[in-house]
Amino acid sequence: MLHGLAVFTSNVDGQFQRAGLDDALIHECHGSLHWLQCLRGCGQAPWPADDVQPDIDEAECRWRGELPACPGCGGLARPNLLMFGDWGWISGRYDAQAHRLNRWLERVERPVVIEVGAGTAIPSVRMFGQQVVAGYGGHIVRINPREPDVATAFGVGLACGAVEALTALESKLG
Ligand SMILES: [Zn+2]
Repeated sequence: MLHGLAVFTSNVDGQFQRAGLDDALIHECHGSLHWLQCLRGCGQAPWPADDVQPDIDEAECRWRGELPACPGCGGLARPNLLMFGDWGWISGRYDAQAHRLNRWLERVERPVVIEVGAGTAIPSVRMFGQQVVAGYGGHIVRINPREPDVATAFGVGLACGAVEALTALESKLG
């Protein structure tokens, strides 16, 4: 049986990678600010934004100097993340992440989904956890100070903040 930790997140800030988690087991369902893509979709694959050093005029709320350009066509680049009503997002990197996460889920038994701060307004993260439980068994631990409800058969809701809940869980498992 496979043990370990995988991440499904709607955050786009790359903090799970910065915290040292394995990039191969992170699915960023809305993309990442740390990747760029061609605005007009010339066929260039998305590329890391590591070389971008934003120089912002904070008083005017403006980017100074040259905007990032597509290495394929020289046109304007954009963040490789999914915005509302966004038909131009190039999702290949994230489709691959989804595939890797599904392969991982097929190899685990009785997964525990620790869902942190996932609301009902845009329920993609909540739906993911529920699909895991429906498809692979296991349970959800739903950490949410305002919307902790979860059907008893599927898991438990903790009506508190993330640090409080995770610290308490760690001490119980300790
Ligand atoms: Zn291009």
